[in-house]
Amino acid sequence: MTVTLDWLGCATFRLAIGELVVFLDAYVDRVPSAAPTGVTIGEIDRADWIVIGHSHFDHLYGAERIARATGATVIGSYETVRILQAQGIPQAQLLPVAGGETVRLSADVTVDVFPSQHSCVWSHRAMPAADAVCLGDLGVTLQEQQRRMQELFGFLGSLGPEVLDHLRASAQGALGDGGALLFLFQTPDGSLLYQDTSGCWSGILRDLRPDVAILAAAGRGNLDGEPIQGSLAQFVAREAELLRPRRIVLSHHDDWLPGFSRAVDVAPIRAELSRVAPAIELVEMGYRAGFPLFGRR
Ligand SMILES: [Zn+2]
Repeated sequence: MTVTLDWLGCATFRLAIGELVVFLDAYVDRVPSAAPTGVTIGEIDRADWIVIGHSHFDHLYGAERIARATGATVIGSYETVRILQAQGIPQAQLLPVAGGETVRLSADVTVDVFPSQHSCVWSHRAMPAADAVCLGDLGVTLQEQQRRMQELFGFLGSLGPEVLDHLRASAQGALGDGGALLFLFQTPDGSLLYQDTSGCWSGILRDLRPDVAILAAAGRGNLDGEPIQGSLAQFVAREAELLRPRRIVLSHHDDWLPGFSRAVDVAPIRAELSRVAPAIELVEMGYRAGFPLFGRR
């Protein structure tokens, strides 16, 4: 069985497990100034499943069109499902989860769902560099986090008409992130962990031991509900220590929304990983690489 992974920008991937096609997030069409990935949403005509890590536009926007075009079933939070219902996706194509479920995707592929955490996007305006050590912001209430998020959205709106148009087009009425989820795919050739935002519960990651882990590398990491006291590189390395995968693929680390995001410098992450977990292979994947996920390189 051939298992391949194509990165389609931000935290969106197309996972092909033999004949089975699974989208990991669905954000494909982005602002015109973001680097083209070579795929537009209108070209996607095959998908069996779509898993959505959380309900923010840079993850969920596009799922409604892929679901309509392909008949794929969407696995996501109750918030994700509520949004897609409101956009006319039939109930039969929607599978709400909250963590703790195992979903069968085919005769020999399943996915385990776990609760997770969202990155502390409220704690910064410009994305911090991968080696920038960030301290403080502990014990910030939800109300204060929401106030800072409002400020952030105001700032995004000030990035010019291109961003404003995109924010309007992609607004699906999400109430926050809807609760971030983590997915662990079990295939005959190996297991794949998928995370689409830099947050985690350390007790859940501990010793999951996936063969390959897709880990988000953007913003300020969220470790057990508090901002990481350290750098993004240290956050990814901490997750790697807990998970102990054979191989890591990064996500969310490209310049997906110029003016807000940044192309994350992978070098500090590579350095930190080689310090704490030298046996783990860090894969730097371009868009649409058709990467053989479990094969030797
Ligand atoms: Zn998000």
